Amino acid sequence: MELHPDRTQMHLELLPSSPSIPSPGDTLSYNSVLVPSVGPQARFGLRSTSTISSSSPGTHTIGMHQLAQSSIGNNRIWLGTASPPARESSSSQNNRGRYDFNRIFTEPPPREGRSAVLRFKPLRLQWNLAYPCPHCGCVLSFVGDDLRIRQKCCSNGYILRNINSFPHLKPLPPALLNYCLNYKNHMGRNAVSYNNLLSLGACGVENESETGGFETIHGDHSLLLHGRTYHFLPNNTRTGGLHFFTYDAMQEMQSYGDRTMNTRNENGEIKQYRFYRHIGEALYNEQVQINYLVRECIAQGNLARQEIMPRLNLSTTAFEIASIVSEDANRPNRRIIFQLRNEPYPSSISLMNNLMEPLCYPIFFPYGEKGWGDDLRKLYKFHDYILHRFLLPERDVSGKLLLMPTQSTPPRLIPFSRFQLMFRLGQTYLVDMISRNIDYRLQFNAFTQYTLFGQTRPTQPDNDTNNLDEEPTMTHDNNDEEKEGEENQRTTFLSQSFHGSRRHLLNLAQNAICLVSEFGRPTLFITFTCNPNWPEIKEMLFEGETAYDRADITTKVFHEKLDRFLYNMRNGKYFGQRHKPTYELRVIEYQQRGLPHAHMVFQLENIPDWKTEKEELALWINENINATYPVISATSSDRLKCIHSLIKTHMVHKCYKGDSGCIDEKTGICKRGFDTNVIQDCTTLDERGFPHYKRNTEEDCKVVSHNVLILEDLNAHVNVEYTGSTYCVIYLYKYLFKGRKKVSQNF
Ligand SMILES: [Zn+2]
Ligand SMILES: [Zn+2]
Repeated sequence: MELHPDRTQMHLELLPSSPSIPSPGDTLSYNSVLVPSVGPQARFGLRSTSTISSSSPGTHTIGMHQLAQSSIGNNRIWLGTASPPARESSSSQNNRGRYDFNRIFTEPPPREGRSAVLRFKPLRLQWNLAYPCPHCGCVLSFVGDDLRIRQKCCSNGYILRNINSFPHLKPLPPALLNYCLNYKNHMGRNAVSYNNLLSLGACGVENESETGGFETIHGDHSLLLHGRTYHFLPNNTRTGGLHFFTYDAMQEMQSYGDRTMNTRNENGEIKQYRFYRHIGEALYNEQVQINYLVRECIAQGNLARQEIMPRLNLSTTAFEIASIVSEDANRPNRRIIFQLRNEPYPSSISLMNNLMEPLCYPIFFPYGEKGWGDDLRKLYKFHDYILHRFLLPERDVSGKLLLMPTQSTPPRLIPFSRFQLMFRLGQTYLVDMISRNIDYRLQFNAFTQYTLFGQTRPTQPDNDTNNLDEEPTMTHDNNDEEKEGEENQRTTFLSQSFHGSRRHLLNLAQNAICLVSEFGRPTLFITFTCNPNWPEIKEMLFEGETAYDRADITTKVFHEKLDRFLYNMRNGKYFGQRHKPTYELRVIEYQQRGLPHAHMVFQLENIPDWKTEKEELALWINENINATYPVISATSSDRLKCIHSLIKTHMVHKCYKGDSGCIDEKTGICKRGFDTNVIQDCTTLDERGFPHYKRNTEEDCKVVSHNVLILEDLNAHVNVEYTGSTYCVIYLYKYLFKGRKKVSQNF
């Protein structure tokens, strides 16, 4: 076989003796195919190789595997493969379409007339430690991040200027700073305890659970919230700062903290400290000195004890006193019911009140600094506000950046914000704020019903058209808020632009169905999960932290990796130039433990038809989706050993019982079908079009199908499945927002 590089016409040349399918003994030097510029019709029309070869008379049919490595030339597609290197282990007689662990796809050559060379993006990310933000010193960006992303910390220095109204936080007060730096581990994990004891306001969670709080998960996790948060002044309880400060009850605070926060064993010895008395005392005293909200509470308490009722409201800026109730007529010690100024009810803290944050998070707002609220609403977008809060590095009183060593070896000193340092409380704050933001937008939706829906607003709630869900009993799919009006029950509808609403999901699903009906069935279903052990994540964590504690880092790394993966995917790094995606759909979700994962659906070009070219299709799957371990020996290449360990680490299915497990409670069988996998020497498709992957050994039967090139790049659990099913695009959105009960679906 020879290569004819001078031939520019549509041509295909193969020596007649060349077998259409190579066997291990063959030494193929080169296959080449030249086809003319393929117009738009060919983009979707070229479904098989036979289509190509039939356009040039007198040619042979070429197996898919030979066409895999290819590149786009000027006005034509050039397809060819260099002779494969000697293959390892070819014990199987039938070597058709075997998975080639050594295969890589080359980058496409630069197009003529284009200066920018298309290169695959490296998946190893580099933090921008050497070039922090010149204005604020923030280092949480990647080398190569564009300007828009880099400006998120401080809007290019804009919010740092004196003239503007951004509610800046003062440097951390001395006692709090001292404990943060010297008890980093303790404070990082338990600042929530101190915050709960010292905060004047309280945060509740409105959901169906009995405890009404954030949910508890055992083991590593991020914060989980089902439902929404709300805020109030806990006038009636004796458990928060409002009570302790007003009645000068530090002792009570300490013993309450000791009793409720610390866990004890049977002998009453403290097993785990979440609260130290001395830290509690120091923070309490500091708050009394510096926080003006606390001081106003104390002043009110003193006045109430002196029974000078008429003067009660004179000395405050934040509070009004709703009433003073006496629990016991014989005692002079009376209880004050606090009410915030401009709030309609005692104990209420409304959504847009800029005192909400300092009242509920005194550890983050120790001086009572203002948070986001009505006054800032039009100046700063909520997301920008949160980003600035989270990313602006902490400085000491002299304006010097504070630094903290990371877990990396060698440790590096990097700046941090208080929200990152006290990471558990930081997460509570973040989740709370996001819930607040969603509430804010819900409110907008409720107030603008007429504008959104006008006269045509639906008269019936959409339960009847719940065609996304086969189980009519599940009602939580109906995201339409039922609001109780004063006179009559009025239903509020969520618009399509509200992320996660039924209309939003329905719209996405309809788009997906349109895509499929226009371009045909999807090819691949890929699930990509964030790996908490990625070096990019690990090297940025401070002492005592895990990936689950720092959602700000994990999500950023995940997002960037996903972005680069998609870029490479679109440019043919993983399936070759011949099989670039026609369309893609994706959904990002968060798991129970808080790590993000993405479900993606792709249709690739030039995939054999599942009905008429079943054999070619099986061959293609065999070559591109792997469910086997590579055979390794002492002499194997490092790359092969690495692949082996990657599969072992990330791609082995383990059966679990329980809620999120795969084992069916009734039958005891793995719902994902890993019990029924059998050893077979090539991939087959059953009559429904479901693939049964090639598996060589018993061990292989537990391997989750994947693509080695993707696995190597992402170093995480990346499940790649062939899917001939149209319905998987709908499941993509069905998966989302299912509330507590997850839907599991096998493809
Ligand atoms: Zn900055
Ligand atoms: Zn299982």
